[in-house]
Amino acid sequence: MNSPEISVALPVFNEAENLDELNERLAHVLASTGRTWEIVYVDDGSGDASFEKMAAFARKDPRVRALRFSRNFGHQMALTAGVDAARGRIVAVMDADLQDPPELLGEMLKKVDAGYEVVYAQRTKREGEGAFKLWTAHVFYRLLKRWTNVDIPVDVGDFRLMGPRAVAAFRRLRERHRFIRGMTAWVGFRQVGVPYVRPARTRGETKFPLRKMLRFALDGLTSFSHVPLQLATWLGFLVSAFAFLYILVVLTLWILRINVPGWTTLMVFVLLLGGVQLMVIGVLGEYLGRVYDEVKGRPLYVVAEEVGGEGPGEDTAKV
Ligand code: UDP
Ligand code: MG
Repeated sequence: MNSPEISVALPVFNEAENLDELNERLAHVLASTGRTWEIVYVDDGSGDASFEKMAAFARKDPRVRALRFSRNFGHQMALTAGVDAARGRIVAVMDADLQDPPELLGEMLKKVDAGYEVVYAQRTKREGEGAFKLWTAHVFYRLLKRWTNVDIPVDVGDFRLMGPRAVAAFRRLRERHRFIRGMTAWVGFRQVGVPYVRPARTRGETKFPLRKMLRFALDGLTSFSHVPLQLATWLGFLVSAFAFLYILVVLTLWILRINVPGWTTLMVFVLLLGGVQLMVIGVLGEYLGRVYDEVKGRPLYVVAEEVGGEGPGEDTAKV
């Protein structure tokens, strides 16, 4: 099979009920662009009929491919596998729950044609999300912008289109704790956003409970910022400054001989310093754990099965 012009890579985790509509809408949109295309589904260890569905699409249409992971490796890994396996010159990545509307691809493609290397979909509004998620996401994206030296756009998920040079650069980033929306910003080139209203999930439920969201946010922060690591330095200065002032107070009291038994003060300081020290050690631990994960050098994911696409492509990186 010759390389298609566009590949669309989609991570799938228990989305069986969304796949029929998704595949149909995607195929329709791609056909309307008048270019050659392929769809690459990556099943991230689903427990439902997701893989059977995508494998059936793949058997029916040679332009559809289905990969199955050996277990659940997570959204970011499934996305990575999709980009690795893609044979198209231009690669689009999007969620499989229809929250990233396929119909936006046409407009995004025009930006790639206009010379942009990375075109991301920017949420102007998010429907069907709780106030808590909206607020935490708002704060998180702005904090990230302040604390990192990479220009990561705000309110942008992983829905994007990459041109050939961005794809090649992205494939070379093999870090284990992946924050893809940051990594695609890191590769540089000309980047642009296309605004859209993010619809609510119509079927199934989110696969990102609060615990996973927090892990992911922490990966984003630690992958792109050393500010938390430098926290110890600043806290050190701050606490030292207070300590110095307090020494003056203690000395004055000593000179004036109105020395009081200072148990309360002592306890407050011991507890405060203990807390600060543990917190800073915790920050070190977060980074150290990530260093350990990198040093192990394991592959990012394991593919168990692949259906469709008429044999392996020429230059697909596997790990
Ligand atoms: N997903 C995945 N592996 C996971 C969790 C999610 O491949 O461990 C997929 C999921 O099927 C969907 C996309 O990642 O296509 C985004 O997940 P979800 O819609 O649950 O996230 P949300 O939109 O709620 O942030
Ligand atoms: Mg979703």
